[in-house]
Amino acid sequence: MTEDKKPKKPRGVARLLAGKCIACGARCQSSCPVNCIEMADSGEPLIAVSKCIGCRKCEKVCPAAALEMFFTPEELKLLAALQSGAGAVEDEPDPEEMQLREMLAGYRGVWVVLEQYAGAVAKVSWELIGTGAELACQLGVPLSAVILGKDIHHLAGEAFAHGADRAIVLDAAVYNNYRTQPYTDAMCHLIAKHKPEVILMGATAQGRDLAGAVATVVKTGLTADCTGLGIDDKRNLMQTRPAFGGNIMATIMCDKYRPQMATVRPHVMPMPTLQPGRSGEIVRESFAPKEEDVLVKVLEVINDRDGKDQVDVAAAEVIVSGGRGLMNKENFSLLQELADELGGVVGASRSAVDAGWISHSRQVGQTGKTVRPRIYIACGISGAIQHLVGMQDSDVIIAINRDPEAPIFQVCTYGIVGDLFQVVPALIRRVREHKAAGAQCETAKSAA
Ligand SMILES: Cc1cc2nc3c(=O)[nH]c(=O)nc-3n(C[C@H](O)[C@H](O)[C@H](O)COP(=O)(O)OP(=O)(O)OC[C@H]3O[C@@H](n4cnc5c(N)ncnc54)[C@H](O)[C@@H]3O)c2cc1C
Ligand code: SF4
Ligand code: SF4
Repeated sequence: MTEDKKPKKPRGVARLLAGKCIACGARCQSSCPVNCIEMADSGEPLIAVSKCIGCRKCEKVCPAAALEMFFTPEELKLLAALQSGAGAVEDEPDPEEMQLREMLAGYRGVWVVLEQYAGAVAKVSWELIGTGAELACQLGVPLSAVILGKDIHHLAGEAFAHGADRAIVLDAAVYNNYRTQPYTDAMCHLIAKHKPEVILMGATAQGRDLAGAVATVVKTGLTADCTGLGIDDKRNLMQTRPAFGGNIMATIMCDKYRPQMATVRPHVMPMPTLQPGRSGEIVRESFAPKEEDVLVKVLEVINDRDGKDQVDVAAAEVIVSGGRGLMNKENFSLLQELADELGGVVGASRSAVDAGWISHSRQVGQTGKTVRPRIYIACGISGAIQHLVGMQDSDVIIAINRDPEAPIFQVCTYGIVGDLFQVVPALIRRVREHKAAGAQCETAKSAA
């Protein structure tokens, strides 16, 4: 008995529509999986139809709708039969698509790489555990904290309390101080073994270095400095970040490679609620490169917090920031006075930093620090988008500017239109009066 062979659905071949190509730069050529497109001197494609497999990729990428699929009369007849439902026609699956789907399905789970120094975890890692937990929940997979270091087993418990379900621990002397080579080797080993679909790291000096190195070795995409993360209906990570100098927010996808990697700056994501006593699974791994194979040696660790400017703007709860409106370096002492009264620190816009009025470590914004204080007071700062992306998530924003049209007023909680040299001293006076009244009240209470 012979089995009836079902006819295959015709795929056609690509054809250029006369006069429609805008010579966009050969997008069609670079999309073709079988290299059957050559570019003519005019910038238009020349399609070798004998090689075309009818995958439609060129048609999909063409911005000018200049390509279409061509079918012979016989193929058209077969297609018509398919559309009318007459005769079973087999739709041939795209082998590339099938391979991609299979590869994507092989990667599951969300990872956050914990950044630690001498056993203390960077705050940004806990913030990412909070975000990672939300992503893992949407994907229906566990959230793993990846912990590399020496004598760091105790961090697994902390990771669970912050929201991780699993801790993958690599504890060895070679991981004592961060070095690109052993950390990259370790991460690539873990990725090959466990195949996570999402990996998050802090956009710190270490995170940026490690994420870039790992993404290069495992040949996947990496989106740096994300300000928002989400999951689409195909399990892809939607990675949102400012683009084109901060003028637009771009959502970037890595839909054909795994794992999907993203870094996020400190204070961009909120801290998760601590759940003391929460437990999880600990996976102890033993992979460790030999020390003699690691080219870079750490001779001494010098703490740069011992330098002159010990202020950590990114961690401050109250920030009084100054911009070009401050006019000169000396006037920043006025902001320092207000910051001291409020128990805060002084920050700055890039204009003030570029003018040499204050150090770059105080700069808030796209090329400075991302901050999320309880109170952010912007004095003489216009509110350019590059500044706003660094501070717009502050709980309360107070803007002082003499220009009522200044864009900072669009994002502030309270806006004061006026000369900062009058408003700031008035604020200092008011805070001092308030404190004095509070102190008097305390004295009266204890005397009573
Ligand atoms: C790629 C790129 C990255 C950047 N990164 C950053 C960044 O990280 N951080 C950053 O801040 N900027 C950044 N910038 C620069 C940014 O575009 C703006 O130029 C900068 O933020 C402007 O600083 P400013 O608000 O202090 O100065 P201006 O825009 O000049 O504003 C000064 C403001 O002070 C007000 N003013 C003047 N005198 C007084 C007064 N006496 N009282 C009250 N108000 C007064 C004025 O009305 C004005 O609104 C970046 C730009 C680019 C292109
Ligand atoms: S349909 Fe596919 S195979 Fe044919 S030219 Fe376009 S991209 Fe190449
Ligand atoms: S993608 Fe379209 S517009 Fe661009 S070169 Fe090819 S046919 Fe022309």
